[in-house]
Order: sequence, then structure tokens, then C-alpha cells
Amino acid sequence: MTCDLCHIAMDRRTSTLEEPYCYEESGLPYLKLLGIEVWRCPQCETEVPVIPRLTGLHALVARGLIYKAGQLMGGQIRFLRKFARLSAKDFAAIVDSDASTVSRWEHDEQQPNPQADKLVRVIAATALDQKEAARVALLRGEDRRAPAWEWVFKNRRWTGSPPRAGTG
Ligand SMILES: [Zn+2]
Repeated sequence: MTCDLCHIAMDRRTSTLEEPYCYEESGLPYLKLLGIEVWRCPQCETEVPVIPRLTGLHALVARGLIYKAGQLMGGQIRFLRKFARLSAKDFAAIVDSDASTVSRWEHDEQQPNPQADKLVRVIAATALDQKEAARVALLRGEDRRAPAWEWVFKNRRWTGSPPRAGTG
């Protein structure tokens, strides 16, 4: 693989716990992908990941966010909205709000009320087509659980690591 900017050959590595790939394109920079192929330019340090089974990974991450204890953060709301394939405008209409309010939620400038937080999760659970996830979405925040922020690709499938202290 060649760097688009520098036109030189990139180095290949496999992401590990010590040197993970932080999946910032997802809008969730603390999401770490381990066990995947990553190409890195030795000059500009641009990294290009090869993410296998992307749809499955996104479904697992969405499920983790639906099950997440406490309130959703801005990037997490945006991830779930995109997972449900909704524009900010269409999404706002479903949650009885407007696009500018949704934008403030997604930029952590305003927190959605608890009802809107639940509705965001239910919308994502519907996209996931999981009744159990929809049920969990409606639980009180403290009755949900911490999601995995580290996902390992091993034996051709994604597995989430249990959360470490302070990462829930
Ligand atoms: Zn480069």
C-alpha cells in the first residue's frame, strides 16, 4: 500500500493492546480495534486500517451503546443515529425535536433529557432488529451495564473485551 500524500510505501502492522488502532472515524475515539491490519506511512504517520466485517462490528458497538449505563455522550448519539441511517433532520422529527437541538446533543453542548436518551437507544435497537436491546434501552440508566471499548478480531470474528476500570 502506498501513502496518498507522500507516494511512498507504507509499513504494515497488526494492532495490539499495546499499540491499538483507535477507531476515530467512528466518532468514538476511545474505541480500540485489536488484531487488525494497519498500514502506516513512515513519513506523515497517516494510518489506514483494514477493518474486516465492518457491518458486524458496528452492530456490536451499537448494541453496546444501547446497553450502556448512564447517559449517552454526543459522539455516541451521532454513532447510533448514523447506525439507524437517519439524517439529523429525520432523526430530530422522530424524537420530537429539531436538527439544531440534535446537533447540540451530538457536540456535547446540551444533554438530551432522559426520555430522548431512551428514544435514541430504542431507534437504534429497531435498526438492530433486537427486541431484547429495545427492552434494555428502556431500563433506568443504572440498571444497564458498561460496554466494551476494545474489540478484538480473532478467528474471523469480533469479540469485545470487558471494560477496564475507568473506561465504562
Ligand atoms: Zn505519508
